Amino acid sequence: MADDSIAVVDLDRCSPDRCSYECSNFCPPNRTGKECITLRGEDAEQGGPDQVRISEEICLGETCGICVEKCPFDAIEIINLPSELDEDPTHRYGENAFSLYGLPVPESGSVTGILGPNGIGKTTAVRALAGEMVPNLGNYDEEPTWEAVLDRFRGTELQNYVEQVRDGEVSIARKPQYVDQIPKQFDGSARDLLEATDERGALDSYIDRLDIGPVVDNDIETLSGGELQRVALAATLARDRDFYFLDEISPYLDIGQRVTAARLIRELAEEEDRAVLVVEHDLAILDLLADTLHVAYGEPGAYGVITDPKSVRNGINEYLKGYLSNENMRIRPEAITFEEHAPRETTKAEPLVEYPELAKSYGDGEFSLDVEAGTIYNGEVLGIVGPNGIGKSTLAQLFTGDLTPDVGELDFALDISYKPQYIEIDQPMRVDAFLSSITDQFGSSYWNTEIANPLQLNRIMERNLTDLSGGERQRVAIAACLSQNADLYLLDEPSAHLDVEQRVQATSAIRRYAENHDATVMVIDHDIYMMDLLADRLMVFDGEPSIEGHASKPQEMRDGMNDFLSDLDITFRRDERTQRPRINKPDSQLDREQKRAGEYYYA
Ligand code: ADP
Ligand code: ADP
Ligand code: SF4
Repeated sequence: MADDSIAVVDLDRCSPDRCSYECSNFCPPNRTGKECITLRGEDAEQGGPDQVRISEEICLGETCGICVEKCPFDAIEIINLPSELDEDPTHRYGENAFSLYGLPVPESGSVTGILGPNGIGKTTAVRALAGEMVPNLGNYDEEPTWEAVLDRFRGTELQNYVEQVRDGEVSIARKPQYVDQIPKQFDGSARDLLEATDERGALDSYIDRLDIGPVVDNDIETLSGGELQRVALAATLARDRDFYFLDEISPYLDIGQRVTAARLIRELAEEEDRAVLVVEHDLAILDLLADTLHVAYGEPGAYGVITDPKSVRNGINEYLKGYLSNENMRIRPEAITFEEHAPRETTKAEPLVEYPELAKSYGDGEFSLDVEAGTIYNGEVLGIVGPNGIGKSTLAQLFTGDLTPDVGELDFALDISYKPQYIEIDQPMRVDAFLSSITDQFGSSYWNTEIANPLQLNRIMERNLTDLSGGERQRVAIAACLSQNADLYLLDEPSAHLDVEQRVQATSAIRRYAENHDATVMVIDHDIYMMDLLADRLMVFDGEPSIEGHASKPQEMRDGMNDFLSDLDITFRRDERTQRPRINKPDSQLDREQKRAGEYYYA
């Protein structure tokens, strides 16, 4: 037996009525008469009686893995836990179910961050910290008690906190991850929703600083993603609670809005002495937001480990390096690195298109956009940055031909493959059928290496498009966009809904695709780390959101970043060890020096 391995059976996938138990028929211990893979039977607490259970005592571990291969529904995972992990689970949902190791440590007056992929147990941990669930310490057969939990954490930084939870003294406010769901749960205007949350008399100030005023009397149903996100933030922060949990603050927000949200959260922790826990996948924002950080790693859906707290700087550095020092744990084969200096101006390939000055306005001039004339070169990745509501999608639609400019003419006969910001792929169709209808390369080893593997599509190929989560849908849409034959690939906000690890993978998939195919790619995004890693040049939008927008011609990275960040009044310094960009404190010495020198990014 392998005592450091776990077996996980996904009961949503295990479908004994549609297979003939290949897993147990081929399991070597079963074939010698042992009861390794058995049926759950009538007394199964979870799952159907005909679904399988796997004995972790008898199972030979990951090196065997025969059942994993045999199961037609990918329902089984056999995983050797890292030998460095020498603790017992904090919680296990049941036999052959997900296990969580460790717990984050909320602390009054401080913002604690969690950095790691989705599906790794962050919500599970928060339910425990909120007192909504007593963690069972891995003993899922027994009734869990807070006394046992307290015994486990006595003498650690969690002791005090667990005592308070046990005594029912911790109250919580939480912001959900998917703000798009709010209109399904609430009828009425944003103001109706917000007024019920004003427990500290701070609501008006949040409405003002998050710029919700213009939409506060509108029906929740009519709000955009970015507006919903800000309403949800205000609704959470306005409460009077001990512990605040915010599951992602950045989706749909532009950089300026992200920075404002981060500052409001810091103020709540520091000035009101509250404990705040955040999950955030935009690393520049997490860096600004958190005091301490737990890195979460593991195998999404199977097990997750939440490390002891690290300083936010070290935590992000170690994460990027792919190696956790204290834990002696490698979490990624290679490091993620940033260029300290702006990329050198390279000799350009052939122009792909040269476009003239353009203008477009909607209705009777409610919003107008003007675009400087410019050139896009073959084989480059052009980043597009700017606030929300400034005309980025409008330009995308001018290039695709969905909109016609009022001034200027676009006469290029380019095939453009376009991934819009709001993805509408709602056909009742399986992912594999959908993708194979787009490319005849589907399933080839080349396509698998370049597209399916980095975008982690294998486990969702048999799912229906309509059943996908936001992040899954995003990955399918990026794959669909890159799989088409086109002259220009245009991706609007590919980072939305992706966790930090998926952003890294998607970034390298897009980059590699551009390099290997000599493909020209335009990417609109608000995640500055992703932009830094992706873009060769930048197009910068400025103006007044919802009123008028101006698009610069494509510029070198240094000029583009200066143009963009001076508009936002934000400067970045470099981390000494990893050279990754870090947002400066406003009015700090570096901030002032860099602004004086006009170097906002590559200082
Ligand atoms: P995260 O918040 O990091 O995305 P969650 O804590 O929501 O992760 O879930 C971690 C894993 O635990 C998921 O793979 C999910 O399938 C599993 N899980 C969550 N709730 C239950 C439950 N009640 N029973 C069994 N498994 C569960
Ligand atoms: P971004 O992509 O930078 O967020 P958009 O190009 O989507 O900006 O929108 C710019 C402005 O134009 C916004 O104020 C938006 O409300 C407005 N707008 C977008 N599409 C239309 C349309 N079809 N009719 C009228 N106004 C529109
Ligand atoms: Fe049996 Fe374990 Fe091998 Fe699966 S991995 S076939 S359960 S021994």
